[in-house]
Amino acid sequence: MALTKLDSLYRAVILDHSAHPHHHGTLEGATPLILNNPTCGDVIHLSVEVADGRIKDIAFDGSGCSISTASASMMTDAVLGKTIEEVAELSEAFSELVQGQAVENTDALGDAAFLSGVSKFPARIKCATLSWNALKKALESEDNTGTSGLTCH
Ligand code: ZN
Repeated sequence: MALTKLDSLYRAVILDHSAHPHHHGTLEGATPLILNNPTCGDVIHLSVEVADGRIKDIAFDGSGCSISTASASMMTDAVLGKTIEEVAELSEAFSELVQGQAVENTDALGDAAFLSGVSKFPARIKCATLSWNALKKALESEDNTGTSGLTCH
């Protein structure tokens, strides 16, 4: 990732998350969902606990580049405590943001909004969206067992 080409503030926030990721690890008793990004070699292990239609707890592990690690850290911050519907909206907004589309309300994304610069590096978009895609898949598998209220669009 040509991080040097990104705005320095953005770069600082991204590097801080990748060096000290939030919610890093595995949840006790959870079977992590594993997803990889073959174009970069990133691998994420995501554990999610859903209760009453909300993300009650979340943790990630694995190995990846600074963008994928930072994005996963930012994602866990953004979605913790949110309802499944809110998570779907955030995921959509993030996907649009990193593809360079205008997103009206980036506040809810928290630090994840700092990844908007990734849109200038198409090869890195998958690094940024890996954790969000893993969350989507994890919630879909929850839905199959009837324990969450995820609605498919
Ligand atoms: Zn990557």
